[in-house]
Amino acid sequence: MNNQTNKEPEMKDDTAECSMISFNDIDKVYGEDAPAEESVTALKGIDIDIERGEFVSVVGPSGCGKTTLLHMTAGILDATSGSVEINGVDVQSPQHERKEVGLVFQHPVALEWRTVRKNIMLPVQILKENGAIDHDKEYYRDRAEELISLVGLDGFANAYPNELSGGMQQRVTISQALIYNPSVLLMDEPFGSLDAMTKDDLNIELLRIWRETEKTILFITHDLDEAIFLSDRVVVLSPRPGQVAEVIDVDLERPRDEDTRGSERFVELSAKLHQHFKRLQ
Ligand code: ADP
Ligand code: MG
Repeated sequence: MNNQTNKEPEMKDDTAECSMISFNDIDKVYGEDAPAEESVTALKGIDIDIERGEFVSVVGPSGCGKTTLLHMTAGILDATSGSVEINGVDVQSPQHERKEVGLVFQHPVALEWRTVRKNIMLPVQILKENGAIDHDKEYYRDRAEELISLVGLDGFANAYPNELSGGMQQRVTISQALIYNPSVLLMDEPFGSLDAMTKDDLNIELLRIWRETEKTILFITHDLDEAIFLSDRVVVLSPRPGQVAEVIDVDLERPRDEDTRGSERFVELSAKLHQHFKRLQ
């Protein structure tokens, strides 16, 4: 009997010890079966551990494999060798739950004929058709209302996407990604098409959402200052094949706000990252 009562806490400790996201020596070759001159080695030897609740950004020249890395983390693309684990579970194994991961792409994916509320509920409808949701619709409807507040869209639940600015549409996309309460949020240049001021505002909003929800965030951007402003660590990838060229620890105090970008330490870190980046070209 004693054994049984001891077992559960032990298992919990195991999960608490493993990283939230582990990239284990990943290579990715597109067209590996094609003639050598037609195959593309996108990533090589990627080995990174991201801890629970950490905010990590990946920067690197265009075409170095950032999106590839994110798609492998989401389990929608296979690694050629090596593995990606979320919470200790290989994303390619049947034990992996897709709901552990929320995805946000560069362009909003809201459907124009659905209201904000119904767009946020869209993933629920899709998974319901696959018989893969844990709660009833009522539960997710309440959750959608909470998320509308969380992302600052109060009053817009019944609006249609074309009534919203680009920044507000990305707030809808973030809510969509959070509907299942995933542990991990993957974001691929989510603010890349927004004007600079909207982007700065959304950066601050994202940090607030991150703080309130305690998610682990893997964020891709080509904006080096955005990476510093948001992150605990910035991973710099080399040109293709993408390899980890540098990892920069960002020791700026939190919470960060408008004044952070003007601080001496921010300017130093930004200069350091820009230098690393220049050396790669
Ligand atoms: P990034 O997001 O850093 O710009 P990607 O991950 O999109 O880079 O792409 C990395 C490299 O892999 C690029 O050279 C791209 O052309 C190539 N690539 C991406 N997807 C495919 C594919 N489906 N087939 C062949 N090559 C691809
Ligand atoms: Mg990309």
